[in-house]
Amino acid sequence: MAPAATTEEFPVSLESRTLSSKQATVTASVLHGPLDLKLVRSHIAECEWPKFLTIDQETRSIEQPSIGELQIQIKSTGICGSDVSYYKKFANGDLCACAPLSLGHESSGVVVGIGPQVNGFAIGDKVALEVGIPCGQCGICRKGRYNLCKKMKFRSSAKSVPHFQGTLQERINHPAIWCHKYLFLNEKHNYG
Ligand SMILES: [Zn+2]
Ligand SMILES: [Zn+2]
Repeated sequence: MAPAATTEEFPVSLESRTLSSKQATVTASVLHGPLDLKLVRSHIAECEWPKFLTIDQETRSIEQPSIGELQIQIKSTGICGSDVSYYKKFANGDLCACAPLSLGHESSGVVVGIGPQVNGFAIGDKVALEVGIPCGQCGICRKGRYNLCKKMKFRSSAKSVPHFQGTLQERINHPAIWCHKYLFLNEKHNYG
């Protein structure tokens, strides 16, 4: 069983859906090279990731969720063998990171923002994340074997460039279709 790294409580209220500014600040764990892990606080958009690092390594930001996306406050992330490999070598097998990378992809969290055209979710819903985003159009995807899609973007992997950042961040925007709601049978396990 993989050890779990639980994020600290972050004071995101239910108001995240109605943030007045387009962007917000988040804290992220970012790997810059072998054994070179930094905790950074950000205020620049996630999509501008390669650019902002040359401007300000101390900050990083997240925008309001786009169409079809949810904003998730990450609550827990398991540490996978691939994360350990990136941490030690900045590479995983043949995949070498070429830019700073947040690790983590086995995650669950709470919905704190809902983008346009998303139905079936409410603020506060607990979700497990599926972090491999397939193209949805190729023959493999159309056959329902989307997990084998060759164009898949996978969080915390160096396979796609720019890298699809991992979940060791306070919050991420993620396609709602790849967020799976769940209910605890035992309230003891509630995040609170
Ligand atoms: Zn994994
Ligand atoms: Zn595909």
